[in-house]
Amino acid sequence: MRVHFHGAAGEVTGSMHVVEAAGRRVLLDCGLRQGSQEMEASNAGPFPFDAASLDALIISHAHIDHIGRVPLLIARGFRGAIYAQRATAELMPIMLLDSASLAESDAARANRKRRDGEPEIQPLYTKEDVLAAMERVNAVPYDSRETILEGIDIAFRDAGHILGSSIVEVWADGKKLVFSGDLGPKGTPILRDPAPVRDADLVLMESTYGDRNHKDRAETIIELGRILEEAWRDGGNVMIPAFAVGRSQELLYWFAKFWNEWNMSRWQVFLDSPMAGKVVQVYSRHHELFDDDALSVWRGTPNPFALPNLRMTTSAEESMAINQVERGAIIIAGSGMASGGRILHHLKQNLGRRGAHVVFVGYQGNGTLGRRLVDGAKWVRIHGRDYRVDASVHTVGGLSAHADQRGLLEWYGHFEPKPALALVHGEDKAREALAGEIGERHGVEVALVRPGMVLQA
Ligand SMILES: [Zn+2]
Repeated sequence: MRVHFHGAAGEVTGSMHVVEAAGRRVLLDCGLRQGSQEMEASNAGPFPFDAASLDALIISHAHIDHIGRVPLLIARGFRGAIYAQRATAELMPIMLLDSASLAESDAARANRKRRDGEPEIQPLYTKEDVLAAMERVNAVPYDSRETILEGIDIAFRDAGHILGSSIVEVWADGKKLVFSGDLGPKGTPILRDPAPVRDADLVLMESTYGDRNHKDRAETIIELGRILEEAWRDGGNVMIPAFAVGRSQELLYWFAKFWNEWNMSRWQVFLDSPMAGKVVQVYSRHHELFDDDALSVWRGTPNPFALPNLRMTTSAEESMAINQVERGAIIIAGSGMASGGRILHHLKQNLGRRGAHVVFVGYQGNGTLGRRLVDGAKWVRIHGRDYRVDASVHTVGGLSAHADQRGLLEWYGHFEPKPALALVHGEDKAREALAGEIGERHGVEVALVRPGMVLQA
């Protein structure tokens, strides 16, 4: 069994690895690179392999940096089956249709600026490409070993990162490969902890936070409650930029869990994201994937996804109507880094208000509006106009969807004997620190793989 590394090998996005075994070629993930313009432009470039030569595709989870190039793979000749955990299979079309509509509107904008004689710019892929890809998807439950090709078996184990997220086990040629996908931290609300796996010949493990440990989650939640109390006293609105899958659902979970303590019934809560609303429906269909704590929260009243004061707004008109509310509204909207999306018009409306509060609950990338606000900018530019920042800006760390160094060490620690290890999905600083720790504890060689490298199991 040989593994060829093509993406998320020395960086966090663009997950893509090819497994050669039993005379077949299987792709693990087919993710989009995200970040600088140069990285994003590379997504339209050729794949480092012939798409038609692949026999199957296995998806670890529905984040765009793991699935974002799947429609392109089909458009370029892939004719095999796609395997994904059941909830992942339901989340994929939601994420990919959104990605296609972004690509289509980007291309349309670029074409409007196009000069005479320049070639028309094509979107990365279209909604039709997404629908064609979805026809190839086979939904597989957790913990069920399946033969996907003659001589190749796989199983998905719960990775506890987002709903449906999976650790992938692959058996072929008498060897076993384990791909961690993205691993959640222990104690993520709603989801179970990452499943321990005990045997493998080769492990590919993510290393996003390989060099640090997260702040305590319980303290983070106390802080969130305190901010909401302060915001109520100040008499303004609370804006929470959040991505559609994971964090948005988690916030509703905390609101339900602390319904009485935080006096939540006095607020109007808006989930102002059509995509997050659809993701809520998928979560609602999959209570069997929830952990015991979540089930007890759901047994209580109110149900996190049906809070009596929750409105999930879909149309642009409904979203604009929120602008009429000057106080007492909690608005959760995308994008999570305030780099686009509906959160922008809420920020334009509220940043100049002294009683308003903006709460960042996730990582803010360099160059984003979120980062400028977190860094304390007094003026920010949105849609070509400058806005004064009089609102209070908070950063609530500690709600990460990724395991930290402690969690990664613990997960690898379950293997016995210790298998060969390749670190993927992490910047060099993070994976060097993690490789150092693992080398010291277990005396194993850790490969920091790069695009084009090959490892043999
Ligand atoms: Zn992920």
